[in-house]
Amino acid sequence: MSLQFELRANPHPRTDAERGAVLADPGFGLSFTDHMAVATWTASDGWHDSAVVPYGPFSLDPATAVLHYAQEIFEGLKAYQHADGSVHLFRPDQNAARMARSAERLALPVLPAEDFLASIDALVAADRAWVPVHGEQSLYLRPFMFASEAFLGVRPAQRVTYCCIASPAGAYFARGVHPVSIWISTTYARAAPGGTGAAKTGGNYAASLVAQQEAAAHGCDQVMFADAAEHRWVEELGGMNVYLVTTDGELVTPELNGSILEGVTRDSILTLATEFGLTPVERRISLEELVEGVDSGRVAELFACGTAAVVTPIGVLQDASGSHVVGGGETGETTAALRKNLLDVQYGRAEDTHGWLRRV
Ligand code: PMP
Repeated sequence: MSLQFELRANPHPRTDAERGAVLADPGFGLSFTDHMAVATWTASDGWHDSAVVPYGPFSLDPATAVLHYAQEIFEGLKAYQHADGSVHLFRPDQNAARMARSAERLALPVLPAEDFLASIDALVAADRAWVPVHGEQSLYLRPFMFASEAFLGVRPAQRVTYCCIASPAGAYFARGVHPVSIWISTTYARAAPGGTGAAKTGGNYAASLVAQQEAAAHGCDQVMFADAAEHRWVEELGGMNVYLVTTDGELVTPELNGSILEGVTRDSILTLATEFGLTPVERRISLEELVEGVDSGRVAELFACGTAAVVTPIGVLQDASGSHVVGGGETGETTAALRKNLLDVQYGRAEDTHGWLRRV
């Protein structure tokens, strides 16, 4: 039976003025709406106790399993307001499917896609007033699930909490799109063969932080990870997939190998490629090929992609050998066109020919 997310309304919602102050300059991940969707799973009873409740802290026993063994997964997607006032999600079925795959890898219970979607619909409906209306702002949704059983034995938890929170998000590039600089880390790996790289689980992000510090120490915005076994093959950034555009009209991205996260944006761009007259290619790309291609100009454009920043041009690659400027350090034509196309669909300015939007 599917879950019902009935609203238990927050008796103290923020005032119009308080909400207005947040929406005037939301930033990212700083403020949260008045409600959250929750559900509980137990080994004995399955999923139950689902509702939309007032946003607030969890009370956790110090022995709660997630605090010790990190049995946890999450998702990230956005709700976009169109000019006619309607609110839409972008391919949320893909997030539901990825969360199910992550759950299986982390030995967590699968939340059926219809319940995942119902939780988001109910939360967005309750906090409709929090969906930003300006420019490229959106309501970022963060579904997550964690081992909430108080037990220190190392085994899959018999009690799990699901929750979805919502956070107004400002335009990622508030002052126009700027190419970012990337540090290629060969010291640290993010995910190993047989590991959890293809799952959206907190441990992968914890493992990426020291490499991000290394990137910052080299004056770079983000870090690019290579494979863990050989430190030789391009994988992805800490929170985005990567693409290169070659002078032969190929749009190339590293093939899924079990340690790369399968991004919804990555997948959408594979579909869009042919509409842009490009040949989509999923294959292994060595760091050597990438850096040589950038230096010779064969790699004309390089960009990162993900829900948060959509499509982000990469202007500079940096590694132990020095700096490698991509396409003169400017945003390439294909990068800009793909970015615009995705945003136009998400914000209802272009026809949704692939049926990617789901109206809330
Ligand atoms: N790789 C990683 C490691 C990520 O965290 C994300 C963000 N979810 C992505 C890629 C991009 O995925 P998506 O396009 O679904 O946001």
